[in-house]
Amino acid sequence: MSENHYDLHCHSTCSDGTFSPEELLAHAKEIGLKGISITDHDTIIAYEVAIEEAKRLGLGIISGVEFSAVHKGVSVHTLGYAFDLESESIRKLCERHRTRRANRYRSILELLAKHGMPLEEQELPKGSIGRPHIALAMMEKGYVKNVKEAFRRYLGEGKPCFLRTEVISVEETLDAIHQGGGLAVIAHPHLIKNKKIFDEVLDMGYDGIEGYYARFSLREESPWIELAENRGLIVTGGSDFHGKIKPNNPLGASWVREETFQMLEKHFHNASLS
Ligand code: AMP
Ligand code: ZN
Ligand code: FE
Ligand code: FE
Repeated sequence: MSENHYDLHCHSTCSDGTFSPEELLAHAKEIGLKGISITDHDTIIAYEVAIEEAKRLGLGIISGVEFSAVHKGVSVHTLGYAFDLESESIRKLCERHRTRRANRYRSILELLAKHGMPLEEQELPKGSIGRPHIALAMMEKGYVKNVKEAFRRYLGEGKPCFLRTEVISVEETLDAIHQGGGLAVIAHPHLIKNKKIFDEVLDMGYDGIEGYYARFSLREESPWIELAENRGLIVTGGSDFHGKIKPNNPLGASWVREETFQMLEKHFHNASLS
């Protein structure tokens, strides 16, 4: 891999990735990345070990998280970067999500049992439990052939074992990230199909757009980069690596260069001091 690549979007076992934080960092080092941000869904638990481990490996690292925000019923994944890891507002928001997810997890297991697919009430992981974990367990039990089928038939929106949970708004999410001294970025913007919703969300106070995503081509990236430039927003990028849960997103598939990372690193340093 060429030098000076920094992947700012990846998941560990603290949410629905299949690499532990240590394995993720070792993998980043192995493929030649210069640095990383671990953006688990709704949790920053990876950072209990990640900062030290990145230092040991000589990798750059900044704080990161991917919050599951919602605007008018539309999911708006919101990346937070370079916030203070001790921030009360970020920790409180993660705790709300943890409770939301734990409740949903139990209810989904009840629904699955009713549909003839009992799963053992496993020990809840310490981190952030998501539908992909349930999909994997269903696959291991032989109820479905793969994760995609689990979503298509049972867990996806509107399917028999889908459950709505407490909604946490984009406004609350942006407030928490900003109070923690961080920067907020709209993740994989192409997934927000409704233009009106997208425009409303963009006006709510985001600092950046994830213009480089997974295996996007130049043609797919350029409208987002242009939009960010017109709005004076930063452009971030990353692979959305999940290990074997999303085998088509290899680590380092998208990335940012040194200038962007250094700006974020400076921001992280300042947020952590105040
Ligand atoms: P959760 O945050 O628990 O609601 O789970 C959402 C995650 O499930 C997303 O971030 C995706 O990684 C994954 N996901 C959502 N829909 C599908 C699908 N149709 N097939 C596979 N994975 C999906
Ligand atoms: Zn995920
Ligand atoms: Fe996402
Ligand atoms: Fe993600």
